[in-house]
Formats: sequence, C-alpha cells, structure tokens
Amino acid sequence: MSQLKPKFIYFDLDDTLLDHKKAERAGLSDVHQHFDMFRDIPERQLLDTYHHINKGLWEEYGRGEIDRHELHRRRFQETFRDLGVDQDMHEEAGQVYMNYYRNHWEWIDGAKETYDRIAARYEVGIITNGFAETQWLKIDRFNLKDTARHIVISEEVGEMKPHPKVFDHATDLTGYERQDILYVGDSFTSDIVGGSKANWQVAWFTKNPIDQGYKLANLVFSDFKDLLRSLNIED
Ligand SMILES: [Mg+2]
Repeated sequence: MSQLKPKFIYFDLDDTLLDHKKAERAGLSDVHQHFDMFRDIPERQLLDTYHHINKGLWEEYGRGEIDRHELHRRRFQETFRDLGVDQDMHEEAGQVYMNYYRNHWEWIDGAKETYDRIAARYEVGIITNGFAETQWLKIDRFNLKDTARHIVISEEVGEMKPHPKVFDHATDLTGYERQDILYVGDSFTSDIVGGSKANWQVAWFTKNPIDQGYKLANLVFSDFKDLLRSLNIED
C-alpha cells in the first residue's frame, strides 16, 4: 500500500463522511408517503425521475447556467410534470423534502471513527459542493467545526469542484505547498480529477473504481482501514 505523507488533509463531505445518498433516498421515500397524489405512482418511479432531473440540473448549475433557486424549483416541478402529478405542489414538496432529508443525515459507516483518528494526528478541513445553508447545518449537526481548520463551500467560493478556483482558495487557506495537501473524496470528476489537477495528493473512496482513477489517485480505497494504514495510523 502506498504511503501518503500529507501535512494537511481535506475531506469531501457528501458520500465521503456523511451518507447523502441514503438520506436523499429516505427523504424522497418520505415525500412519496406524505402526498396522496403519489398513491398510484411507485416509489421507485419517483426516485428515478427525481434523480434523472436533479442530476441534469446540477450540471446546469455547475456550468453557471441556473442559480440555486431555479435548481430547487425545477427539480420538483419537472419531476412532477414527468410523473403527471400537480406541478403546483412543487414548492410545498421542496420544503417537505428538505425537512425529511435533514432527519436522515448520518455518518457513512466507519467514517466518524476514521475522521476523528485522522483529525487527532493531522490538520484537517472540509471542501464540499453543496449549498451553504444546508452544508453549514450538516457541519453544525456533526460538530465538524471543532476539528476542521478550514471549511470551503462551493457556493461561497462562487465555483464548484472541480473548478481550480475552489482548490486554489483551499490551498491558500492552509499555507502549505500543493503537494503537501491530500484530498479524500468519492467523486471521480469533482474530487479526483479536481484534486490531481491542483497538484494535490488524492485518495479516492469508491467501491466502483475505473482504470483512470488508479492513474490519478495516490490511493483508491473502499475500506477506511486502508486510508488509516496509508497515513501510518495503525489499528
Ligand atoms: Mg461527495
């Protein structure tokens, strides 16, 4: 196993430390139960339609073509249009969803212990692509401010990962050289491509690696124990 020797370690938040995907699924399942209009629509169909539309809107948002408000409005409006239910319910559904989504936030299995052990030995921080309001709530809920020296949220920087502006800003905050920074993240495009283009060390947390990932990443792992070992933190 390759040994990593960083002076500063940034973590991605969603689906690296916190289980965003699980909370999203559970929140949408609650929305499905909440509204009578979904009685004849299978939950799977709501989830698939929402995921498809939400993904496209995030790409538009990432390119700066739409703002946060438009993304929030259209992800339910267009889902409801495609499902043939009352589009006027999109606003209420958006609020109901956010409330349910927040109830389902939890750590990825093994992430809390790993993060705490690393934070006891290294300077750490967070870089996340989410919306500031939501991501600050997560950071508060999980007490990440106690340990994270720097917290970088894309909406506050004005660009999303993998944009170099995010990594340049995060580099400046640390005061270290680029090659002394390690990024731990789950997204190939945002985290691994973005981090390696910034000349950082990168550790890719994934169960489905692709060949290019092994070329770019200093470590590819699906078990947090491997990350700890590569940082010389033994069991
Ligand atoms: Mg992520």
